[in-house]
Amino acid sequence: MDLIDRVAVVTGGGRGIGAAIAQGLARAGAQVVVADIDAETAERTAASLREWGGSALSGRADVSRVADAHNLVATTLERFGRLDILVNNAGICPLATIEEVTEDLFDRVMAVNLKGVFFVSQAAVKPFKEQRSGRIINIASVGGKTGGIMPVAPYSATKAGVISLTKSFASYLAPYGVTVNAIAPGPATTDMTRDWPADRVQAITQSIPLKRLARPEDIAAVAVFLASDKASYLTGEIVDVNGGLLMD
Ligand code: NAP
Repeated sequence: MDLIDRVAVVTGGGRGIGAAIAQGLARAGAQVVVADIDAETAERTAASLREWGGSALSGRADVSRVADAHNLVATTLERFGRLDILVNNAGICPLATIEEVTEDLFDRVMAVNLKGVFFVSQAAVKPFKEQRSGRIINIASVGGKTGGIMPVAPYSATKAGVISLTKSFASYLAPYGVTVNAIAPGPATTDMTRDWPADRVQAITQSIPLKRLARPEDIAAVAVFLASDKASYLTGEIVDVNGGLLMD
């Protein structure tokens, strides 16, 4: 139980990778605040953690809204008196070719995936500096390095931005003993990829050296490691969890 008594916030924790990360952190002993734009799915994840014997709360937070981002951290501090681990996981990935991308789609993807990561992290800066400890774990994507293997140009640009934010926050917070890292998953078996054409998924799977998509648990295991004391000398790092799809 590496994370006993640590307090963690996971955005987009209602389902998919965020739910698996919330579960991994709770199993490692952390008290977890599951935040999601959908209060019902957030509570479902939190309830499953409590049923298992963990300590978890849920709350609605739309990370694209700065007020929600700041309120999420403030509420966590009110409730637990501290925040140790922030996982910026919430993200959206609409499929659209470059010609199909509208201004609304572009703005929404930027707001959730990039602005959200910035402002939730910004809210955590003050408590982390005061505590002189803390962990930020951002969920980027292999697409942030390659431009994407599906028609998701704005999404890939946000994930490149998340990689850059990871390094900016890592440099800024290092003097306070706070580490900031990112995980760059390859395609994973969640609702985000559920509507991808089956033949495309098959072709992608064949191109992955380990011959399968990521499972949410593959990403959660790395997030739990990055949150633990074992990762205390790691910062500004982008950890590829992609079955060998991109080796760099
Ligand atoms: P998912 O199954 O679609 O889950 C995303 C979660 O985020 C959902 O619970 C969603 O709520 C929530 N969410 C969406 N917009 C939000 C907002 N504005 N504020 C708060 N929560 C919000 O996706 P996933 O596959 O687990 O992806 C999780 C992260 O991993 C994302 O950052 C994604 O880019 C990244 N990633 C995924 C893959 C992949 O292949 N799946 C690969 C690389 C990286 P709703 O249920 O209401 O929509």
